[in-house]
Amino acid sequence: MNGRTNDSSNVVSRRRLLGTSGAGVLGGALGSMGLANTAAAHTSSLPESWDLEADVVILGSGGAGTTAAIEAARAGASVIIIEKATNPGGNTAHSGGVVYLGAGTARQLEHGVEDSVQNMYAYLEAQMGPTQDLERLRYFVENSVEHYNWLVESGIEFGTEFFTGKIIQPSGETGGLAFSGNEANSPFSEIATPAQRGHMPAGAGAAVYAALKATADTLPIEWHFNTQGEELLVDADGRVAGVVVRTGIADPSTPTEEGTPVSATPAADSMVLNVKANKGVVLATGGFQFNQEMLADHAPWYIGGYPLGGPHQGDDGSGIKMGAQIGGDAFNMSFASPWNFVYAPGELCQSILVDGMGRRFTAESNYGADTGDPIFRRNHGIGWLIMDQGVLDRATEAGALMSAPFATADTIEELAEQIGVPAAVLSAELAFYNEQAANGEDPIFHKHSEYVVPLETAPFYAFDYGINRGIAFITLGGLRANMNSEILDVWGNVIPGLYGAGRVAPGISQEYYVSGSALADCTFWGRVAGRSVAAV
Ligand SMILES: Cc1cc2nc3c(=O)[nH]c(=O)nc-3n(C[C@H](O)[C@H](O)[C@H](O)COP(=O)(O)OP(=O)(O)OC[C@H]3O[C@@H](n4cnc5c(N)ncnc54)[C@H](O)[C@@H]3O)c2cc1C
Repeated sequence: MNGRTNDSSNVVSRRRLLGTSGAGVLGGALGSMGLANTAAAHTSSLPESWDLEADVVILGSGGAGTTAAIEAARAGASVIIIEKATNPGGNTAHSGGVVYLGAGTARQLEHGVEDSVQNMYAYLEAQMGPTQDLERLRYFVENSVEHYNWLVESGIEFGTEFFTGKIIQPSGETGGLAFSGNEANSPFSEIATPAQRGHMPAGAGAAVYAALKATADTLPIEWHFNTQGEELLVDADGRVAGVVVRTGIADPSTPTEEGTPVSATPAADSMVLNVKANKGVVLATGGFQFNQEMLADHAPWYIGGYPLGGPHQGDDGSGIKMGAQIGGDAFNMSFASPWNFVYAPGELCQSILVDGMGRRFTAESNYGADTGDPIFRRNHGIGWLIMDQGVLDRATEAGALMSAPFATADTIEELAEQIGVPAAVLSAELAFYNEQAANGEDPIFHKHSEYVVPLETAPFYAFDYGINRGIAFITLGGLRANMNSEILDVWGNVIPGLYGAGRVAPGISQEYYVSGSALADCTFWGRVAGRSVAAV
């Protein structure tokens, strides 16, 4: 090893050479000249000697990175994992642990859940949004049972509890199988037979990751912590040949005597190392919700929301930037999943959720992203959950409420004045809703009749369901990848030697997220990346 203490001069000069503007100008010039624009346009001056070397170098040790490492090592490749935090696991280890699996898993069969490849695909095709890569979605669904079995063989014990009602997710003590998206909501319940697919182990994400890490620990994988990937190195043929990393990176989740470090700050004695990847580099660095600049550039609506992630705050978009710097196609960067669940308890869905003008904008029983996203994108951060005494009583009896009412009034007009929405609009909205609800109908948003009851019993209550509530979100956009988890450039060409999985290169959750689709995504496509790169 011949690492240079705090010597970043090479990195800086290469950056200047390859910086975003330079790459963009070069790409633009080639395009306008009508020449083939390939990743070969991006090359680096490779170091004369390398500090570390392996067949496969993986950046990030969450679900995507660790499953890629397992599969690559099992296929006989030597593997190095570079992780900037002090501990492995990323957000995967801090997550709720719900994994979206179906088409007839053993747990589904045990509980008599009717599901099939066709049924699961029909739901996800309708749910995941028009920009979803359907070829990747189909492959994922066709292999969902195999992936379930692989996760179980890797030591994940999905809970045996079975849930039929509206819950955000099973308890961490039991785990279990539950609806975890809009499967039972209109219009999806008419498109596909509703099936519970949210599989969760007791112990949540920590249990998911502990099993993956234990499996990885049976294999000869080299781990480097507090070390950050900073720049991809590309040879003269346009193949990613390695990566520049920096050691001594501080982790905010491990405070020192000096206090809590800011994410990703290098220590005084940090070193820059060149790491050679004989077969390829796998990006598994997560999304970018902790990068304020990237949010401002791509998804400014969500600034003011609560970036969701472990205390290491690893999702800073560095992997997306590294890939884009050498021509990777960053797509869907304006999409995020902000959760503003009206349930649980499910009885709260009998309320109405209105914007700052007093108008409903979605079915209250919908998945948390549907009740969250419009608050950021359309409603200027405002959302009010309006209910009468009847709903409050039923909900309180069913379970603890997550917050106290913001305002209470004997008439809906007085309530509207207290929360600053036009009284005439809210009162007309409620009158129309009540008129339809008297027949158990919601003709505008098609809320399930179970949750459609007139709101007529004073006093009325308004709960603040806007961004003041601290609506958590993750970003969904990232680098475009193909069926082999190879990263593509903006022309659709493979960037040789570069792979990606998880939030940095979304596979099935590209525009929309239902609970479990991120863990399923990162572990499934991480495995694909590991097998693909090892096969080079
Ligand atoms: C509280 C919470 C609950 C959640 N619940 C669920 C759930 O129940 N189901 C579900 O499907 N999803 C859930 N999610 C989302 C899900 O956890 C993540 O989207 C998923 O784990 C992402 O996996 P990943 O492998 O892509 O990234 P991560 O698991 O985040 O791993 C990325 C790793 O890369 C490291 N890294 C970043 N940049 C660099 C760099 N430049 N060099 C080296 N290392 C780097 C990070 O430190 C991190 O360790 C939840 C998330 C949170 C935070």
